[in-house]
Amino acid sequence: MLSLPETILSLPPQVTRFAPSPTGRLHLGHAYSAYFVLSCARATGGSYLLRLEDTDHTRCRAPFYDAIRDDLAFLGLSPDRETPAQSTRMGAYQAALSQLQDSGLLYPCFCTRKDIARSVTAPHGPDGSFYPGTCRQLSDDERQARMAAQPYALRLDTKKAAARAGPLAFQELMHKPGSQTVDYNAIDDVVLARKDIGTSYNLAVVVDDAADGVTLVTRGQDIFAATGLHRLLQALLDLPAPRYAHHPLVVDDQGRRLAKRADDVALGTLRDAGWSAAQIMAEALGRLLQDGAKSP
Ligand code: GLU
Repeated sequence: MLSLPETILSLPPQVTRFAPSPTGRLHLGHAYSAYFVLSCARATGGSYLLRLEDTDHTRCRAPFYDAIRDDLAFLGLSPDRETPAQSTRMGAYQAALSQLQDSGLLYPCFCTRKDIARSVTAPHGPDGSFYPGTCRQLSDDERQARMAAQPYALRLDTKKAAARAGPLAFQELMHKPGSQTVDYNAIDDVVLARKDIGTSYNLAVVVDDAADGVTLVTRGQDIFAATGLHRLLQALLDLPAPRYAHHPLVVDDQGRRLAKRADDVALGTLRDAGWSAAQIMAEALGRLLQDGAKSP
């Protein structure tokens, strides 16, 4: 098991989850992530769930579902239980969207990526340009007319949502441990329902963590910046707030986060080349970007 910080070791039993998307083979970063999740569950006497995040049918592929289960089994990281895949929960996402829409917190957006890129007025947020707000300004009549004629996404009206929710914080146990105040200025009018799939990662992950009874969300530090938005959505949807532990990332030789397409670090490639589970885990731990959860 990994040696974990006291902030995690002192917790009562936690329900944790590993939530990969079946868009490719798992790689060394996933191996570390699953090991971290399992360690948190075992250290607190809780449980470890696997959830396949497959809302994006344009990118998920059938063979990767079993490949993920098989890679985890090979590493000795099989979950205690697998929860329903996201594709089976579209009704729950629709219900959450309706709840937000009935509260007047969503607006339809007809912009294409090109429209947004062309806008020179977009201010910048932590993840690049903020949405310039083009469709936030439309009149009700214009909205109705365009909704009847064109595909649209649904965006969160963050200003209204922040006013509704009031000040919020989330508990982080690993990356910047302590209570983190949600900074509404850093939250974009994010798309909660994509034109093509009718939902989004940010909406689905919040709905699912609540449905699965997850009490400790563990994932890479790259997602830390999205956690304020997740906390906001939990408050708006009356869902419980889990604790968070964002762990360091496994990186490539240039110190960059591993990409899904990085075949040289895919577990399938390493297994085919004869690597043992212990060798794979040692390689993953050796490539951690920073300290925080070192192996004993
Ligand atoms: N499906 C997401 C990913 O693979 C999981 C993120 C999360 O754990 O919240 O990055």
